[in-house]
Amino acid sequence: MDIVLLGSTGSIGTQTLDVCRAHNIKVKALSANRNTELLEAQAREFHPECVCVCDESRFLDMRSRLADTDIKVLCGMEGLCELARLKCGRVVNAVVGMVGLLPTLAAARAGNDIALANKETLVAGGSLVTDCVRENGVRLLPIDSEHSAIFQCLMGAMGNKLSKIILTASGGPFFGKNRGELENVTVEQALKHPNWSMGAKITVDSATLINKGLELIEAVRLFDVSPEQVEIVVHRQSIIHSAVEFDDGAVIAQLGTADMRIPIQLALTYPERLPCPAKKLSLFDVGALTFDKADEDTFRCLSAAKKAVAAGGTAPCLVNSANEAAVALFLEGKIKFLEIGDIVTEALETLKVVQAPTIDDIMSAKAAAEAFVALRAKV
Ligand code: MG
Repeated sequence: MDIVLLGSTGSIGTQTLDVCRAHNIKVKALSANRNTELLEAQAREFHPECVCVCDESRFLDMRSRLADTDIKVLCGMEGLCELARLKCGRVVNAVVGMVGLLPTLAAARAGNDIALANKETLVAGGSLVTDCVRENGVRLLPIDSEHSAIFQCLMGAMGNKLSKIILTASGGPFFGKNRGELENVTVEQALKHPNWSMGAKITVDSATLINKGLELIEAVRLFDVSPEQVEIVVHRQSIIHSAVEFDDGAVIAQLGTADMRIPIQLALTYPERLPCPAKKLSLFDVGALTFDKADEDTFRCLSAAKKAVAAGGTAPCLVNSANEAAVALFLEGKIKFLEIGDIVTEALETLKVVQAPTIDDIMSAKAAAEAFVALRAKV
């Protein structure tokens, strides 16, 4: 087995390399957004054929860092797509945001199976991605813990169709709080996730609950169900990673400790299950499992994502892109926490939705959402 790893310096990327170390999986290529220091260290350890730095202003720095090696250095979106086209066992897409869309399409067209951690690609690209995967006969293996759980529950389904998906949510750091209590939330507070250790963007997404909204859309795309067939359940302990219900009422769930190396490893070694360095689950240590409803009035992002999947077309892309832009502004201290949900909701209410979009329509929707957020944040 060999892989191409897009987004190797992020949280999923570094944990993917942990799995590669444990099982001697060859790494053909690595990419980073702009962390050239870590990318250099990874390249010296794993000896890939090539690396790509997305931020083009870092290209010369990266090239000089690896000047004494025979590793090819690429940059930008073109470089990322070139990596995705390298013949390999899996392209692991662990980049953050919609920047992962074109490389995912490139990987599928090149006949590569894709291990996908980049949910924004599936949310924004929609059937463009799922059709491309089907037409090219490649596999899309989910790394997102909930979708890996659903995928695992279906591994034993013997072709029986599921009737419902129970999508679990930790609830994030602000579960149980009302809008008044969230008025002055700081970046630091939003970045303190109770169960999972993740990158900044997805941690804020978990705090606003848009992460669960994006995952609902991701589940609709991956498992060919209607949005009404996906039930979001707040499960504070993050032990049940999701479940599926069948027609007879039987519910099959996947449980485990909150360690992303389990779903990452399965996406790399599927259908084989190998020993994993993650801690084993002890139900006695957990004690009790609890289940609650999500509060969509407080967490407006979640209802915006639900409205977007119902509206179809470019609506999920608008919500996703408005969110990416708003989260970036929040992390820079330029807008308040609750404004993320307000802005995402307003973007969906204001901007035009195009049905049956082409890739150009999707890119235009992304640009329109970004422009909307930039303008709105100035007010
Ligand atoms: Mg998840």
